[in-house]
Amino acid sequence: MTYSPKRTTASCEWCGERFAVRSGPGRKPKYCRPSHRQRAYEARRLANDRGIGPDEVLIARRTWVHLRDALYRLEAASEDVAMDLLQGKPTKAEYVNALGHLSAAVRELQDVAVEPIAIAD
Ligand SMILES: [Zn+2]
Repeated sequence: MTYSPKRTTASCEWCGERFAVRSGPGRKPKYCRPSHRQRAYEARRLANDRGIGPDEVLIARRTWVHLRDALYRLEAASEDVAMDLLQGKPTKAEYVNALGHLSAAVRELQDVAVEPIAIAD
């Protein structure tokens, strides 16, 4: 009988992506790649230097603005779609159009690269 390590997945503590890990003895990796381990280390070090607390995250202003604006547009799209679909009897084309409108807003939000500059453990 040959030993074949079971594969499972874990969530990267830096980017949140799932990645394959081997089960079995030994320390489980926390990061999907070495560069994410390094960036997490640098962000923790900067958090320590700047006194960032465990409930705080420092992100770039442009990231915050992009995120805030994308959330606002998603909320507006959701309200538009609700108003459009709740009035009368929507056609299939109107549902498809509404879904496209919502999907575009979701994609915009997904495109926001939210990466902390400093974050404590
Ligand atoms: Zn990662």
